[in-house]
Amino acid sequence: MKPIAISGDIIQQGDKGFDRAIMDTLFNQWEPGRRPDMMVTPKTIDDIIDTIHYARKEGKHISICSGGHSWSANHVRNNSVLINMRKFDAYEVNREAMTAKVGPGVGGSTLLTALFDQDLFFPAGHCKGVCVGGYLLQGGFGWNGRKLGMACENVIGIDVVTANGDYVHANEHHNSDIYWAARGSGGGFFGVVVAFHLRLFKKPAYCGSITHVFDIQHLEDVFRWAHEIGPSVPDAVEFQLLTSRKVLKFLGPGIEAVAPIFADTKDELEEAKAFMLNSPIKQKAFFKTPYLKANMSSMYRFVMTHYPDDHHWGVDNMWTKASIDELMPYLKGMVETLPPAPSHMLWLNWYPPKRLQDMAYSLEDNIYIALYGTWKDANDIPNYGSWAKGWMEKANHLSTGIQLADEGLHQRMAPFVATDNLKRLDEVRAQRDPNGLFNPWHSRPTLTL
Ligand SMILES: Cc1cc2nc3c(=O)[nH]c(=O)nc-3n(C[C@H](O)[C@H](O)[C@H](O)COP(=O)(O)OP(=O)(O)OC[C@H]3O[C@@H](n4cnc5c(N)ncnc54)[C@H](O)[C@@H]3O)c2cc1C
Repeated sequence: MKPIAISGDIIQQGDKGFDRAIMDTLFNQWEPGRRPDMMVTPKTIDDIIDTIHYARKEGKHISICSGGHSWSANHVRNNSVLINMRKFDAYEVNREAMTAKVGPGVGGSTLLTALFDQDLFFPAGHCKGVCVGGYLLQGGFGWNGRKLGMACENVIGIDVVTANGDYVHANEHHNSDIYWAARGSGGGFFGVVVAFHLRLFKKPAYCGSITHVFDIQHLEDVFRWAHEIGPSVPDAVEFQLLTSRKVLKFLGPGIEAVAPIFADTKDELEEAKAFMLNSPIKQKAFFKTPYLKANMSSMYRFVMTHYPDDHHWGVDNMWTKASIDELMPYLKGMVETLPPAPSHMLWLNWYPPKRLQDMAYSLEDNIYIALYGTWKDANDIPNYGSWAKGWMEKANHLSTGIQLADEGLHQRMAPFVATDNLKRLDEVRAQRDPNGLFNPWHSRPTLTL
């Protein structure tokens, strides 16, 4: 007999296949060494409410997953009931209102590819498999994000089951504290999101990219150039440098300078292309493309060459506004010690184009550096498991915070929202989840206000 009388599925510790079922919720195959007591896969909102009442009665915590792409396996916790939202995977588009209602188990790439075919757009994440559940809660740096803002800024409402078991809608006017918290608290959110209401955009008239690939010997030139031109890169461009031991998947160590462009007019496109086409170091690139038109499927295909599944991942990150002289020794160190490909270092040119809305998400800076260490064999954990965390610890004095998208809070504590926002998050949580039913982040800064 099921311990909770629900229409969805339940699997408990001790049941055949339990371990595999938990590991199958995870993109990162690094064994977390933790296990919930049971996993509930609800089919209905009543299933979620009943699960919350059960957990409260039994003195268990709640954790939630949608797409399972948290690098730190945030949802795999001890003494907990895990609610797996993967069956909440439906979406409805309202073309007239330019909105969509989207279940948390919908893949961002599924949504965006479908929208694209209808000449619509939403700044979904860059990889297949990432679901909107975790992505929108933690902020959401997505396609055309410099122009359209963090994805969570385009969430106009959420439907959520609270720690009391109440099913409520939250937006700017109703339950606005929940709405404020949901946009940026990520893995520390204290409710189960059942649906997101999103603002949609028109598909940009021009989508494509320009790529220049450099041998690793040009590292210093490439990063100095990227740092210098950063502030002037138009917001239609998501300019980034990807450094790995195998560029273009099969060549040697190098740097892929990639400029995806989303422009609404021909003039905007020309302006966006200029910094790559006139780059003073472009002659050093051993591989160059002109501006190539692309659709979302080809963009996703390119990105996914860097993020294979069935791998172990050790990931960490930093926002920075440091000078290139300060950063250079660390960039060189990170690259010299890179684990084998497809491990990579990402340098993303952000230079916040607009002021953030008032919401939990509150940390960003000019440059984003993230380290993605990956390996297939569990025996390599001692070799590569601390590479990302170790370098971010060393460069910590140059960091102005981290992005929850690439958090490794189980390995290293770092600030992920502004101090005032963390204080307000604590206040909202204390009101909405006074008994700490929902697991918080793996670690968090101590408030010193
Ligand atoms: C390969 C890869 C590529 C990525 N690319 C990007 C990118 O381009 N841009 C970007 O911003 N991020 C990116 N990320 C980070 C990713 O967006 C976050 O890890 C996000 O949390 C994943 O969402 P998810 O639903 O798939 O993951 P999950 O692991 O299921 O969710 C993460 C956490 O969010 C909370 N959560 C999830 N669903 C719910 C819900 N329904 N209700 C309440 N809480 C919930 C839980 O605390 C959960 O532990 C990437 C991650 C990976 C692994």
